[in-house]
Amino acid sequence: MTPESIKKFVIVGGGTAGWIAAATLGNIFRHSEVEIELVESDDIGVIGVGEATIPPLLTILESLGIDLVDFIKHTQASFKLGIQFDDWHTIGEGYFHPFGTLGRSIDGHDFFQCWLKSKAEGDDTPLMAHSPEAVLAQQGRFFLPFEAQGTPLASTTFALHLDAVLAGKYLRKFAEKSGVKRTEGLVESVSRSDKGLIKSVTLQSGVEIAGDFFIDCSGFKGLLIEEALETGYEDWSEFLPCNRAVTVQTENMGDTTPYTIATARAAGWTWRIPLQHRTGNGYVFCDKYCSDEEAIETLLSSIEGQPLTEPRVIPFTTGVRHKAWNQNCLALGLAQGFLEPLESTAIHLVSKSLALFVRLFPTAECDTQLSDEFNRRVRQDYEEIRDFLVLHYCTTQRDDTPFWRWCQQMELPVKLKAKLDLFKVHGGLIPGTEELFQPTSWYAVFDGMGVEPVGYNPTLDAIDYHKLKQSLHSGKTAIQTSAATQPSHDEFLRTYCPAPKI
Ligand SMILES: Cc1cc2nc3c(=O)[nH]c(=O)nc-3n(C[C@H](O)[C@H](O)[C@H](O)COP(=O)(O)OP(=O)(O)OC[C@H]3O[C@@H](n4cnc5c(N)ncnc54)[C@H](O)[C@@H]3O)c2cc1C
Repeated sequence: MTPESIKKFVIVGGGTAGWIAAATLGNIFRHSEVEIELVESDDIGVIGVGEATIPPLLTILESLGIDLVDFIKHTQASFKLGIQFDDWHTIGEGYFHPFGTLGRSIDGHDFFQCWLKSKAEGDDTPLMAHSPEAVLAQQGRFFLPFEAQGTPLASTTFALHLDAVLAGKYLRKFAEKSGVKRTEGLVESVSRSDKGLIKSVTLQSGVEIAGDFFIDCSGFKGLLIEEALETGYEDWSEFLPCNRAVTVQTENMGDTTPYTIATARAAGWTWRIPLQHRTGNGYVFCDKYCSDEEAIETLLSSIEGQPLTEPRVIPFTTGVRHKAWNQNCLALGLAQGFLEPLESTAIHLVSKSLALFVRLFPTAECDTQLSDEFNRRVRQDYEEIRDFLVLHYCTTQRDDTPFWRWCQQMELPVKLKAKLDLFKVHGGLIPGTEELFQPTSWYAVFDGMGVEPVGYNPTLDAIDYHKLKQSLHSGKTAIQTSAATQPSHDEFLRTYCPAPKI
């Protein structure tokens, strides 16, 4: 007998995760009989943070057929070329983590190795002089790479800063157009079959919504995955101890930077995310070293414009659900897990999980071979990102507060330790094919945090150094020259995609 196919999806939660899921599934099934219903409660509302993204967001928009300019205008978005990290290594020092790749290989040799060799020969050109994103960011400029063909800027990679609430509204409209049904109401109970599968959710109004497959996008509490299925959560506070954030929105001051700023503070770090209509700010901190009152004071004394909202404290626990897919329930967004927003990875994890789910798409019976493989890969993604985040902390030279002293002596995750040890020999990194953070990202943080390998790969001694030096010099000059002719980020926003005043 052929297994039954899924005829109805029920999505619980209408935050960014819920509406990305609805838009994605709605788009896939728009010409079919498959029903998709999303339930959300206006009384509970959405978390409303999550304003910095990474480049894969553009791929999602493209795959949904969403026009970039239209999306930017409706979400008050600005462009993002990477993240400026200040005061992480020592107070007063900063570095840039750009999107994209660094330089080009020379005679088949990895670019980073060529740069290391040149450095060993006495060349003091900073690594970031070879990144189009870093150079554009430093100059406060922006230009669309596909309009810069034939220049070194053609490979520029970018993402967006966006208003999370407006993005949710935009995706809702998109999903509803493709046939997704939205129901407003508070889910009060969940009923399960004899086999333990979820059968339906019942709203406070008494309405029962049945389905074959349930997507839990209900936020941190995990209404289905945890409260109903008791899946369990793995706490990673031992590696990433920050467990609270305070946020405030401010009016814009000065130029809109085409990058996020992440500044290390006494017990964590603050973010600054500029949008077209306002700036988002927050302080991610650890309550063992800082009270809410101190965190609010730190944040308010670091902001530039007038506050537009009252400070809001959000508690969280870093970690991941034991199974992101359990029986006929898939958890996405905050219901799936949480890694602090230092590298803006949460929205990406929602869409990556959805893409993987579609590749491993189940029948109504929910074969565990599919969910096991899904869970293995999701965990791998979380671990990879966790390790990359830990790298930002554990390599600090700051010892001015108990928080930073703890970071210096923390126990490292095993794979991160192995990666660091390997890098220190001669700068080697072996990336996994599906890893989000490719070597450029690791090199940027290693370099910015002063982690240096003892030497370079000895095969570089076989290269003609004069030729290598010339090649590095011409690459760097070409980036500088092309970047200098591009418009400022604000000018580009004004001419290409100005958002309406709100
Ligand atoms: C401090 C902080 C900063 C962040 N910054 C970033 C960032 O820069 N970049 C990034 O990518 N991500 C960031 N994130 C993560 C990002 O905010 C979330 O991943 C994203 O918003 C998705 O949230 P969500 O949809 O899972 O949950 P939520 O937005 O909390 O939505 C939950 C939904 O469930 C509904 N709901 C809950 N209970 C019920 C019920 N009983 N009945 C009916 N409906 C219910 C609610 O009404 C709501 O619609 C950040 C998170 C935090 C905490």
